Amino acid sequence: MKSPAVNQAMEILREMRQITGGNYPIQEKLEQIVALIARKMSADAANCYVAVDDYTLELFASYGFNAGVSHKVYMRYGEGLVGEVAQNNHSLAVADAWKHSKFSYKPELGEDNLKSFLGVPLIRWNRAVGVLTIQNHKIHNYSAAEIESLETVAMILSELLASDEMTEYKKELSRTRGQADREKVKGVSLSKGYGLGNAVVHRRRQAVTQIFAEDIQKELRRLEIAHQTMNEDLEKKFNSTRLGIGEHVEILDAYRMFAQDKGWYKKIADNVNGGLTAEAAVERAYEDMWKRLSGTTDTYLKERLHDLRDVADRLQSYLRGDYGAIENITSDDIIVVALSMGPADLMDYDYTKIRGLIIEDGTPTMHVAIVAKALGIPVVAKIKGIFSEIKTGELLAIDGNDGYVYQNPSALVQKRFHEKIAEKIRLQAKLEELRDKPSVTKDGKKINLSINVGLAFDLDYIASTNCDGVGLYRTEIPFMASEVMPDVERQQKYYQELMDKAGDKKVIFRSLDVGSDKLLPYWANMGEENPAIGWRSIRITLDRRAILRKQVRAFLRAADGKELNVMFPMISNLSEFEEAKETLLIELEKEKRRGRGVPRKVNVGLMIEVPALLFQLDAILKKADFISIGTNDLAQFIFACDRGNPRLTERYDVLSSPFLTMMGEIIEKADKYGVYCSVCGEMAGNPIEAMALIGLGYRNLSMSGSSFGRIKSMVRSANAEQLKDYIHTLLKSQKKSLRPQLISYACDHGIEIY
Ligand code: PEP
Ligand code: MG
Repeated sequence: MKSPAVNQAMEILREMRQITGGNYPIQEKLEQIVALIARKMSADAANCYVAVDDYTLELFASYGFNAGVSHKVYMRYGEGLVGEVAQNNHSLAVADAWKHSKFSYKPELGEDNLKSFLGVPLIRWNRAVGVLTIQNHKIHNYSAAEIESLETVAMILSELLASDEMTEYKKELSRTRGQADREKVKGVSLSKGYGLGNAVVHRRRQAVTQIFAEDIQKELRRLEIAHQTMNEDLEKKFNSTRLGIGEHVEILDAYRMFAQDKGWYKKIADNVNGGLTAEAAVERAYEDMWKRLSGTTDTYLKERLHDLRDVADRLQSYLRGDYGAIENITSDDIIVVALSMGPADLMDYDYTKIRGLIIEDGTPTMHVAIVAKALGIPVVAKIKGIFSEIKTGELLAIDGNDGYVYQNPSALVQKRFHEKIAEKIRLQAKLEELRDKPSVTKDGKKINLSINVGLAFDLDYIASTNCDGVGLYRTEIPFMASEVMPDVERQQKYYQELMDKAGDKKVIFRSLDVGSDKLLPYWANMGEENPAIGWRSIRITLDRRAILRKQVRAFLRAADGKELNVMFPMISNLSEFEEAKETLLIELEKEKRRGRGVPRKVNVGLMIEVPALLFQLDAILKKADFISIGTNDLAQFIFACDRGNPRLTERYDVLSSPFLTMMGEIIEKADKYGVYCSVCGEMAGNPIEAMALIGLGYRNLSMSGSSFGRIKSMVRSANAEQLKDYIHTLLKSQKKSLRPQLISYACDHGIEIY
């Protein structure tokens, strides 16, 4: 004899089979199925949620709730009772759902009168790919038989979810959503932030039509007037006090000098004297320079070519007399779209109105990107064909965090962008409010929060964030920005400036970390096949010892009378560390012999970036004064996954058991030896990841200045001891990512992770 549960399930399955075999759309089938289940199981309501990605469940069909809610309600894995069922891959029966700690009220559903809840997972390959629920108005203890019935039905429904019909339907849904947002296109983010505004297509270049001059004297006069007016205008534009100080101002100054360069002007005038029109002469001068420099792999010189192209285009527009055209913009919120662009072009617009910048041919080292970043303008680049597609006036939304551009965004997307922009303003205000509050968890654990410094404007974050120190000074950045290798005096000046700005705060200098993606303009590209694991970083400075000696001498001098902390990057074994440390100690002795002042104390540490070190950690910790974990490089080597390859960015997660277990072992050992240990890779600047690090026992985090406020509010809303317990349980899970669970944990425990 079959059990009542089996009988009930069999009855439902029989009718379900008729529905699934029917010749009508799958959406209708799902709706009929949930209605059938509710009816047969004497429930007042039923829902079917389907996973749309690794973290999200979408309501696909419902019965007994408000009309039209399908495809409008979303739940994270772990969120509410439905998310709980999906996350644990386990059925859940609750007599009074409202009293359950996990209950999450969704007003749009209209579930106010529903009390009891039964949810079962829709399982495929051991993973919940959806959730089926029934609910009742009255408080009701679902029996074992009812649970078994629903689980049996769920098995069959899972088959339907895995069918080709469903796969096609999901594809179709995402296609139509994409169309509603009229093309959401992916590019590369060069500056973070969100912006919404009307497109202004930046066109400057036009073909030169008249090549030969009819009257050379007249051409020379035209050239002189255009050149002079252009330079006067540049003076006015760049003298804005609102630009503040920093590297972007240096870039603009360099540009202005370029435009005033006498050699360049003379070349153009010579070309006119040779019979060309002023326009053709400008082009010829550019082409000559291009021929000389275009073969170079040198990024610095390439940037100079960009600047030259930009100045040439600017001069052309003055010759044509159409330079004022872009001032006739009425919108207060604009998104500039350009094929390519120089830093000065950006200043042609009222930059207080620029909400975003899209550069089809943009690169991260492009000067306009650096200037835009300093001005807080989001930038997205490398979207093929976007320049010719977008028309001036069109509404655009730009997501500089993930590198997306939405053309004519739907009302929903616009709403989301308005919220994100408002959120940013709120965050800014919050940061100011938090500035003088301690970075202490709810259970009283002090978390030292430092910032990473590289570009000149990063120095301003020391005061604005009121951080505990500078956990990483990337000394290679001033080396990269310089035209020649800076000598000891010049370096000392940079380091001194940082020490002065930091006052009593701890500063950690990192020795030159060049190579891989960080190339020096005055060094030829090595042309290595695998530069990330090539001759880079400490490998270069140990082989070219004079560079290291000079740099540590500059460190010692800049820290005269103070505490000096120096760390060496990309160390692969203890011997390399010892060699580097010895170089520093020899220089220290030399300085003393020279009768110079020296630091009050010198601490020497290293970065943990190469996995081999993890097998020599005890020996390292006996010798190092401190360690700092460069999770960017460490993760790329642990997962054998290029950190700069966009195709791989979401493939492996540092929030997974192997990586977190390793991080847990490092901090445990460092604590055992009493060695200061911090994290200075991107992990420390991302709230959810930093939260996991605190759970593992990390108490020193160093991040970019722009992430500081979010991390501080996360710290102040977290409980370190509770996190510790949770993370250690979580580490047992072998899922490819523990991110959804950690996000749910943060949401459930009121930890601010946004
Ligand atoms: C790292 O690798 O995590 C790190 C901080 O160094 P960089 O990003 O400068 O390589
Ligand atoms: Mg690194």
